[in-house]
Amino acid sequence: MTLSRGRDLVAIPGPSVIPDRVLAAMHRAAPSIYEGEIQAITNSVVSDLKRVAKTSGNVALYVGNGHAVWEASLANLVAPGDHVLVLASGNFGRGWANTAERMGIVVELLDFGFRAPPDPQRLEDRLRADSAGKFKAVLAVQVDTASSLIADIPALRAAIDAAGHPALLMADCIACLACDRFDMDTWGVDVALAACQKGLMTPPGVAMTFHNARAEAARMPCASPYWDWGPRIEPELYYHYFCGTAPTHHLYGLHTALEMLLDEEGLEAAWRRHAVLARAVWAALDVWGSEGALEANVADPANRSHAVTTVRTAPGAATRLRNWCDEMAGLTLGIGLCTPDQDRDSLFRIGHMGHLNPPMLLGALGTIEAGLRAIGLPHGTGAGDAA
Ligand SMILES: *Cc1c(COP(=O)(O)O)cnc(C)c1O
Repeated sequence: MTLSRGRDLVAIPGPSVIPDRVLAAMHRAAPSIYEGEIQAITNSVVSDLKRVAKTSGNVALYVGNGHAVWEASLANLVAPGDHVLVLASGNFGRGWANTAERMGIVVELLDFGFRAPPDPQRLEDRLRADSAGKFKAVLAVQVDTASSLIADIPALRAAIDAAGHPALLMADCIACLACDRFDMDTWGVDVALAACQKGLMTPPGVAMTFHNARAEAARMPCASPYWDWGPRIEPELYYHYFCGTAPTHHLYGLHTALEMLLDEEGLEAAWRRHAVLARAVWAALDVWGSEGALEANVADPANRSHAVTTVRTAPGAATRLRNWCDEMAGLTLGIGLCTPDQDRDSLFRIGHMGHLNPPMLLGALGTIEAGLRAIGLPHGTGAGDAA
């Protein structure tokens, strides 16, 4: 049996819910790519994206997903044989590290486990010990989408500065741009990465890097014409923006999403909304967890993302709950992504990013509670009230 005959909800950490207006903007005939509207739309997307990242630096756009900009960011700054220091507090730092290794870059991993964010003191200590300055960059993930930990990016910047180390600070903001506060220039981030399918509410397919003057000065001749920032940040011809055919329909969609985010809601308001909705999730979790069968992966709310929450359950319960919610109710929860020492059937994730309001989120929480009852997992009651 299923009760799911309405609009299904994906509450996963990307792709997130796509607003109807974004879909409608994409539903059109192919535009001319030689002149006219699409070029104006692209220029507007470029300047709007800089407003979202809060930078006056450069943005390079790619037809691609998050993995594409992991590679793009490294290809312009770090040569094979160079060293980088990667901070991992979940899975995604490891993923970026793996990309770097495959590119011939020498990676050192500072691992903070699955339940604690990167420790700025450990970063500072490690960089102080690198008196030769061999690390070209520190790679940090702002929100690790597997663990739902948020890194304190300004504190990481301060640690690099305190150590007097010249490494560039590169931040993967793919999970949380436009959801959790991010202020690239004020925070001294040299390179930031994002993709359009999470907080930016657009179907997967466009990703971007942002970089400041310091990173521009450190830019090396890029071995790959495709990843090369040069033409993408200073296109002489329209096709240089994407090193080939532009993702025309995605640009219409992203343009509308950015208009909704920046001009209608406002970035500060969007951050606040995400904080409020996240607190509703955590309040429900506190109540459900009072029977000891489930809990937030991240104990301290200060270390939790406002975009996604990872939940730990009694053995196997997470997968049973996800299956029930999916089949019975049309609610898709995020699978457990984990390091080898974790059990993926005992982890699930609630994505609460992007195009989301209280009826959607409270509906999801109510559905989860029904699921907890259906699978027989002991839980406290009154979570809806708390949320
Ligand atoms: C989603 C995500 C990625 C990977 O993005 P894809 O589009 O799946 O390649 C990388 N880093 C973080 C933090 C993410 O949330």
